[in-house]
Amino acid sequence: MKVLVLNCGSSSVKFRLFRMEDEQLQASGIVECIGSPEARLVYRVPRRDDRRQVVRAEDHSQAINLVLDGLTNPHHGVLEDIHEIDAVGHRVVHGGETFTEPVLINEAVLLKIKECRRFAPLHNPPNISGIEASLFLIPFARQIAVFDTAFHQSMKPEAFIYALPYEWYEKRRIRRYGFHGTSHHYVSVKAARILGKPIDGLKIVTCHLGNGASVCAVEAGKSVDTSMGFTPVEGLIMGTRCGDIDASLPLHIMEEDGLAPARMDNILNKQSGLFGITGGDNDLRTIEQKADSGSDRHRLALAMFTRKVKKYIGAYAAIMGGIDCLVFTAGIGENSPSVRRMVCEGLGFLGIRIDDAANEANRGRIGCGKTEVLVIPTDEELAIAKEVASVLAEEGEGPEPVEIPVITPGGKKILAIDDDPDIHDYFTTVLSKAGYAYFRADNMKQGIKMVPEVQPDLIILDVMMEDISAGFRFAKELRSAEAGRPGRPVPILMVTAVERVTGLTFRDRVGTDQLPIDGFLEKPVEPEVLLKKVSDTIHR
Ligand code: ADP
Repeated sequence: MKVLVLNCGSSSVKFRLFRMEDEQLQASGIVECIGSPEARLVYRVPRRDDRRQVVRAEDHSQAINLVLDGLTNPHHGVLEDIHEIDAVGHRVVHGGETFTEPVLINEAVLLKIKECRRFAPLHNPPNISGIEASLFLIPFARQIAVFDTAFHQSMKPEAFIYALPYEWYEKRRIRRYGFHGTSHHYVSVKAARILGKPIDGLKIVTCHLGNGASVCAVEAGKSVDTSMGFTPVEGLIMGTRCGDIDASLPLHIMEEDGLAPARMDNILNKQSGLFGITGGDNDLRTIEQKADSGSDRHRLALAMFTRKVKKYIGAYAAIMGGIDCLVFTAGIGENSPSVRRMVCEGLGFLGIRIDDAANEANRGRIGCGKTEVLVIPTDEELAIAKEVASVLAEEGEGPEPVEIPVITPGGKKILAIDDDPDIHDYFTTVLSKAGYAYFRADNMKQGIKMVPEVQPDLIILDVMMEDISAGFRFAKELRSAEAGRPGRPVPILMVTAVERVTGLTFRDRVGTDQLPIDGFLEKPVEPEVLLKKVSDTIHR
């Protein structure tokens, strides 16, 4: 199984393609500066030279198209055909309270992701553009959304409610959500595996220390608390974000300097944190170098950063009533021995002691006290791909076919495939009245079996958005079963509401190799429109 992971930001699309059988990375890269003349594609295949090129990418759809072109390029591609992509995993920053785990994207899911836009106005819109572009460009593949917030939905109200007017939570869902969930989940599961212990019995504190940084208390495999809140600004000191501060402070400055909320938001997100303290440096390597060279401000930044991590570790050990394992991950957590040493200094009372040699060598196990201290590289994209694979495994093969009474054929024969009895009743009424012989199948598996028996003149395939990829696969399967047989292939008319929900337009691709169907009909379908389209498609 091949899974393409897409991480769409406001002006970039990061991608990674995995072969899931051995979790091997096939290709990766990024389209950056989307919408600007400097747009470029960086395309990487393991053990080959990187390819960089200036490209035309005005929006996410064009960017994803470039990625697909790269992946299928005869010289440097890794796929013969985009149909080899079985599923696409989309990183979605905010899933609100709706999404507690990864989900297959259907119409209802997409609408709900759109509703979560208000929580993450900068992040969710590009995620949504990526989903819509991918539904359009890779409709054969299953599309799965994986949320940064989902892992933390296990937090209890005492961890997620703010001490603010309670109606804000009730009416507007103002609460702590937490982020980096995929990473905290991934490294906590890995930690249990490394220790050879069931995660159910472990109290783990995971420190994701990158440009964005957060700590999570993971008890029995569930997030019970995390440092980020309603937005990713809360918690640790980060590269450019302030982390926890007195809530009155921004108001005070806004009042004194006459700043608008957007300007204050920019300062808290982009000009604070390590950047703010040092006066312009947010890269930890630079900060370490300048601290070593004697800069007091850079030393202060390091001391403040590590002290805050230490505070959270202590708090979470207290919340969980102990700690069995401390995990460091992400750019800083994986690579900076001095940050890890400073964080762990003085935590002997929690059983946290570091083996200096192991720490300096960036080894995986660096603790020498009773609490394990692990350095585990995070791989958010692989974690997303694995979540995708598990959603698909859970989904299974779908329902078994059932026997359906066959109506005696009159004029032309129509086989309709849908699992909704109401739609069948509607089709039966409209089409039988018009003199068509109407056959029904409750699912695609059954439909495929019925084709040789019924020999229909037309297949109507009514698909929900979650089934749209299955619908296209069905059409392909049917076409290859028909290949070599005399006569023209049975036309397929797809009926769906996908265009209404997403604003996608598949029409211009109908009948091409990419979309092996012969017509598209948008729901709800008026009887006259249905009859005209059916007749046109049969007599085409
Ligand atoms: P994000 O994904 O949030 O952008 P990363 O996880 O890539 O961030 O982490 C970026 C941070 O990791 C930067 O501050 C960078 O300086 C730091 N980092 C990367 N490599 C090293 C290293 N060898 N030593 C110290 N810090 C490092």
